[in-house]
Amino acid sequence: MSKEYQHIFFDLDRTLWHFDENSKKVLNDIYIKFNLSEVVDSPEEFICKYQEINEALWKLYREGRINKEELRGKRFYDTLKHFNKGNVEVAEEIGSYYIKHSPRQTLLFPYAIEVLDYLFKKYKLHIITNGFEEVQYIKLKESGLEDYFNVIILSEKVGVKKPHPYIFKKAFSLSGAKAVNSIMIGDDWYADIYGAQRVKMDSVYFNPNKTEHENLVQYEINCLSELYNIL
Ligand SMILES: [Mg+2]
Repeated sequence: MSKEYQHIFFDLDRTLWHFDENSKKVLNDIYIKFNLSEVVDSPEEFICKYQEINEALWKLYREGRINKEELRGKRFYDTLKHFNKGNVEVAEEIGSYYIKHSPRQTLLFPYAIEVLDYLFKKYKLHIITNGFEEVQYIKLKESGLEDYFNVIILSEKVGVKKPHPYIFKKAFSLSGAKAVNSIMIGDDWYADIYGAQRVKMDSVYFNPNKTEHENLVQYEINCLSELYNIL
């Protein structure tokens, strides 16, 4: 490549760590452990409804309209309520179980470790994540990712989320990187790619499901192994 990159900033959830599959695994366990077959016909139905409710609540959280506690408290309560089992205590118990077990799941996207081994020798690697502090460190450690990264930038610590330019600027100052010698890799066009564009950093849009879109992208990949061609 013509450009001399020195720093690579990765998103974590749905870019390296397989959020959806890891989450599904724990939701399946919850369905069994909490006897949800009494109120929901299948784990798939439970998972589908939970994901729908969780996504809507995450949107409110991203917009700053609810806080983390409200998000965590409501998502299982609302799901159970949908199936006529709106019990605050059970919802809280399930919520705690989920937060305890989901970050300990270790499924990564294909080629994550191979690609990181390759990139680690050539660049300084960092993480910028909008996920919650206490779970992100567990994910990194449990899935064997921790040692690849120099600086881990958490929106909760910085005070703003991607795509706010300040989180990227903070990432640059903490890592000693500059926009001109850095590239961002992430699956969320708005948070990761638009965010990088706003601070004039190059970017790779990771689109594993090949979702159709008309967004402006610099590089787009469907598999992490395609990074060998770019970097
Ligand atoms: Mg992501």
